[in-house]
Amino acid sequence: MTKIGVLALQGAIREHIHQIESLGCKAVAVKTVEDLNGLDGLILPGGESTTMRKLLDRYDLLEPIQALAQQGIPMFGTCAGLILLAKKITGYETPHLGLMDVEVERNSFGRQVDSFEVELSIPSIGDDIPAVFIRAPHIVSIGDHVEILATYEDRIVLAKDGQFLGCSFHPELTEDVRVLQYFIDMVNEFTKTSKAKTNSI
Ligand code: GLN
Repeated sequence: MTKIGVLALQGAIREHIHQIESLGCKAVAVKTVEDLNGLDGLILPGGESTTMRKLLDRYDLLEPIQALAQQGIPMFGTCAGLILLAKKITGYETPHLGLMDVEVERNSFGRQVDSFEVELSIPSIGDDIPAVFIRAPHIVSIGDHVEILATYEDRIVLAKDGQFLGCSFHPELTEDVRVLQYFIDMVNEFTKTSKAKTNSI
């Protein structure tokens, strides 16, 4: 069974776990380094990136997550999770995990009161996909190998950099599981190819 971890330090954790289980995968709430063992994929949820960073340091999770990424494990950052993944954050000297080749700007759709929901058309996923934005970041620039999957008002809100998927919005706060299914397909593809490699050694 595909095993997906959700970083469970702060933020929208339960909703991701619910969606993962609804797609027939096993969800693991990641609070300690041990919880990272045996994961096929990892979700970094929305919340408050600065708080999550403090907790990542306190629980010594930053480097172990970077090491997991080195193994090629797919990771999906939603909202604050995208900020954690990004290699560059506008106005900040250093990133958090610094894994995904994008620059993000925080709170770029306004403050909490400006939370809103729209429907996005995402060519590689589908039409009428509900997207909830809450003090959302957007991707201001991308590296050479990054694919833009969706934009909203001319801003990049969903992108893929190899094993990393990042979005500005909260797909877990709706009943629509198509964005998560897209990530799980990435995870299953990785598991299949890495098993094929192991078998051929
Ligand atoms: N504004 C938050 C941050 O900068 C992200 C908001 C969210 O995850 N909904 O971390």
